[in-house]
Amino acid sequence: MTQSNPYCAMPFVHIKQFQNHVFGPCCEFENSLQYQSNKIKIPQVEKPYDGPVVSLTGSFNSEYFKEIRKEMLEGKIPAGCERCTKKENIGVGSYRQWANENFNNPKNPLKELHIEQDLNEVRGLDISFSNECNLTCRMCGPSYSTKWSSVYGKFESLYNKEWSRPTNYLGTWKVNTDNISKFTKLEYVKIMGGEPFISKEHDSFIESIPNDVIKNIYFEYNTNSTIFPKKEVIEKLKNAKGGVLKLSIDGIGELNEYIRPGVSWKNIDKVIRLWHNFVLNNSKWIIQFAPCWQALNIQHLHEYVNYVKQFEIESDRFDDSHISDIVGGSWYSIGSNRVLTPEPLAINILPKKYKQKLIKKYTEKIPLIKYNKLTQNLINYLSDENDKNKTYKKVATMKDFNEYNLAIDTACNVNVFVDLNV
Ligand code: SF4
Repeated sequence: MTQSNPYCAMPFVHIKQFQNHVFGPCCEFENSLQYQSNKIKIPQVEKPYDGPVVSLTGSFNSEYFKEIRKEMLEGKIPAGCERCTKKENIGVGSYRQWANENFNNPKNPLKELHIEQDLNEVRGLDISFSNECNLTCRMCGPSYSTKWSSVYGKFESLYNKEWSRPTNYLGTWKVNTDNISKFTKLEYVKIMGGEPFISKEHDSFIESIPNDVIKNIYFEYNTNSTIFPKKEVIEKLKNAKGGVLKLSIDGIGELNEYIRPGVSWKNIDKVIRLWHNFVLNNSKWIIQFAPCWQALNIQHLHEYVNYVKQFEIESDRFDDSHISDIVGGSWYSIGSNRVLTPEPLAINILPKKYKQKLIKKYTEKIPLIKYNKLTQNLINYLSDENDKNKTYKKVATMKDFNEYNLAIDTACNVNVFVDLNV
């Protein structure tokens, strides 16, 4: 490995700001392993840790980042990169490979490789502006949602069950995005939450990006689709290179209201249609519906596809040949992520016979050819008997599922009844 070819491009060009307040080079990076190996304090947005409190720009040349770069320039693999090395060892594609393909390839090589990098070398950001959110989604938690934190006291005891690890609730926070205009070479910005479009910091960030910078940026948004941004933000985003809007919708109608208490489906449906209109008129943007497949919605694939299909029909007259290599995909798609925590919502808690019935249904009736792969992924989840988290004392059961959901129903005044037909 030479200096011109570090193990990974990420620490030289990218900043990840985690929801647990700390910064790191990317979302796969294990800060705890890195800290154990070199004892350099991890930069953070706000206390409570022992590391320095820094702004977004300040994190990039913190001692922590510099040491990671130094290790890579010396030909070492930082301890925090374990997830990537493990994946590659078993032949699974890693984030490192994606990063090197996008940020360090013959067409677009890494130019500057210093322990201290200039701010204008930052090409990618993965950022949550705050944990401000208007929903109490069942699979979320207080560190990601202020709405959750407002009712957290009512749930806290649930987190000390034997099926769970203790939560580390750190309260509300906001990241300081000073000097953002120094990131002149940004080309990829991933925005998570809280809910990004609720955040004033988010709006100021977007509005502060110069037009000759935003025109090169591909965005990836994760939004709960309850808020359509204000006009100024929309106008600015129209100037971007493009983007993918990942809409976190977990069910259609009442099911979504049940899984994500806080905003009516009518409102969400309205915002989805506004986004649909946006992508119809801005052909460099695409929509991905991004459900978290779990015990509460795994049986509703057909309804989900039927809802999404209504938008796709119009897409026949749409040219999506321009879609970014960074995210890829067609202009409408449905994601296949599954819930593993909190454990009582995971697919594996469902009774075996029930899962077998669903496997039979999905094997015999795929909703649309386009969703072959998604259907197969759901079948794989339903067949997976090994996804139980063995690090906890106890495996969650249907009893825990009922107890957990009832607690959230009570705390959030939810009175919708979801019949699993188990
Ligand atoms: S090797 Fe993986 S974990 Fe390490 S910085 Fe690169 S992408 Fe992140």
